Amino acid sequence: MSFDLVLFGGTGDLAWRKLMPALFQSFRHGTLPEGGRIIGVARDDLDDARYRALIQSRFDQVEGAKRPSAEEFARFAALLHFVRMDLSQPAAYARLAESLRQRDAATVVLYLATAPALFTTVCEQLAAAGLNTPRTRIVLEKPLGHDMASNRAINTTVLQTFSEGQVFRIDHYLGKPSVQNLFALRFGNALFEPVWRRELIANIQISIAEELGVEKRGAFYDSTGALRDMVQNHALQLLCAIGMEPPISAHADAIRDEKLKVLRSLKRWTPETLSQHVIRGQYAAGRAGGAAVPGYLGEPGVNPQSTTETFVALRTEIENWRWAGVPFYIRTGKRLAGRDAHIVVNFRPTPHPIFRTPLAGATNRMVINLQPRDGLTLHLLAEGQQSRTSPGAAQTLAPVQLDLDFDRRFGSERVGAYERLLLDVIAGRLNLFVRSDEQEEAWRWVEPILDAWHAGGDGLRPYPAGTWGPSAASAMIARDGSCWLEES
Ligand code: NAP
Repeated sequence: MSFDLVLFGGTGDLAWRKLMPALFQSFRHGTLPEGGRIIGVARDDLDDARYRALIQSRFDQVEGAKRPSAEEFARFAALLHFVRMDLSQPAAYARLAESLRQRDAATVVLYLATAPALFTTVCEQLAAAGLNTPRTRIVLEKPLGHDMASNRAINTTVLQTFSEGQVFRIDHYLGKPSVQNLFALRFGNALFEPVWRRELIANIQISIAEELGVEKRGAFYDSTGALRDMVQNHALQLLCAIGMEPPISAHADAIRDEKLKVLRSLKRWTPETLSQHVIRGQYAAGRAGGAAVPGYLGEPGVNPQSTTETFVALRTEIENWRWAGVPFYIRTGKRLAGRDAHIVVNFRPTPHPIFRTPLAGATNRMVINLQPRDGLTLHLLAEGQQSRTSPGAAQTLAPVQLDLDFDRRFGSERVGAYERLLLDVIAGRLNLFVRSDEQEEAWRWVEPILDAWHAGGDGLRPYPAGTWGPSAASAMIARDGSCWLEES
C-alpha cells in the first residue's frame, strides 16, 4: 500500500526525537509499508537533499543499536522529501498539493507536528486546496486546546474539513506496549474479569513520576502545568483502560464508547472534594541524579512568580455498578524521586483470615509497570514457614511475586509507542486514538479543578526536587488507610 506521510513541522523537536526514529525503526523492522514517501514540511530553506542531510546529521548523534548504518540510512533516506512552505500562507498549499498529486498515493497522512495555533489555518487551507480526499488522514498532537472551549473550537474546525473517522488524535500512552497488554490481559483472559470489581478491589493508583524538570520547555510548561499536560490526557486514558467495561468488539468505536462511559461516570467535583481530594505542588530546589538542581521558579522560561503546578495528586471514583465506592488515585509530577510510571491494583484482604501472618494487612496486588520497565507483577501470599527448622509450627504467609517481564519475553519483537501509532495511522486503525467526545468529556471533568485553582490562588505546596512530592499527597491517601506504592 503506497502512502504519503506529510510531517507539518518536519524539522521540529517532535519530528526529530520521536517521529523520525519511529519511522526508521519501522522501516528497519520491515513493517513500514513499501512504496511510501515521508515529506517534511517547514519554512527552512531546504530541498530533498538538504533535508536528508539534516536528518542524517541527527541520526549520527544516536547512540547504540538504534543508530542506522550508512547503508540502512541511504535506503531510508530515499523515502525522505521536503516541501518548503509557510503554513500561515494560503498560497503555499498549492505547492504541497502539487507534490501530492505527483503520484496519487493510496493513503495520505497529514501529521500536524507543529504549533497548535496553526491547526485551524492548516485545516481550512487543506480544504481550500482540495487536499481532503477520502484517502486523507489527519494526525493531531496534544495539547488540543487549553480548556474545554478551546478544545471544542479546534475539534469543530477540524471536523468541518475532516470526518471523525479521518482524525487520529494522538495520546502516545495508548501506544505503549504495557497499555496494549492491559487491554490484552483484561479482555483476552477469562481470569481477570470476575475479580475486576468493587467486591474484590480496594483501590487503584495511577502514578506517572518524572525525574526530569521542565528542561528546555519551561515557557511551554509554565502555560500548561501538570494537570493539563499529564492528567487531562495520559492519566485519564490509563484510568479508562483500567476501568472500562469489556467492549462488544475490537472495533475502534466500541472501545471508545466504553472509555467515554468511564469519563462520564467520574465523580463530579464539589467544593469539599476539590479542597480535600486534589493536591497541587511545585518543585523547589533539591537534588536530582546526585546533583543539586534549581527549583521550578529558577528554570529558564518560567515566570519567577509562577503558580503553575508541577505536581498533582487526586482521588476520584467511577460512579457505576462495577466501581462504586472504589477510590482511584492519580499522581503525576516533575522532579520526583524517580522516573516511574505504573498502575497499582490493590485487592481486598481475604474475608476470613485463617493464617497467622506477620504481614499485617498484606493483600494481593497487581502492579502494571509502564516505564522504565514494561511488565506486570502479581503479588501473592504463599506458605513462608521454614518447616524443617520449626516442624509443627502454625503456617505463616510470606509474599511472593509472579513477575511477567514483557521486555524479556517479547523483547526484540516489541515496537515503541510512536512506531505502533504511526503504523496504525497508515493502516487506518483508530483503536488507539482519542475521539473528540472523549477529549471533551475529559476537559469537562478537569475544568472545575482549574477553576478552583484560579479562584483560590492558594494551596500550591512546594516540595524539594528529588522527593515524591508534597506530604499532603501522602496524607490524602493515608486518610483512606492506604499509601502510594513507594511508601508501602
Ligand atoms: P518545534 O520544535 O517548535 O517545531 C515546530 C515545527 O513546526 C518546526 O519544524 C517549524 O519549522 C515548523 N513550523 C512552525 N511554524 C511554521 C509555519 N508557519 N509554517 C511551516 N512550518 C512551521 O515544536 P515541537 O516540540 O516539535 O512540537 C510540535 C507539536 O507537537 C506541538 O503541538 C507540541 O505541543 C506537540 N508535542 C511535542 C512534543 C515534543 O516532545 N516535542 C511532545 C508532545 C506533543 P520552521 O520554524 O523552520 O518553519
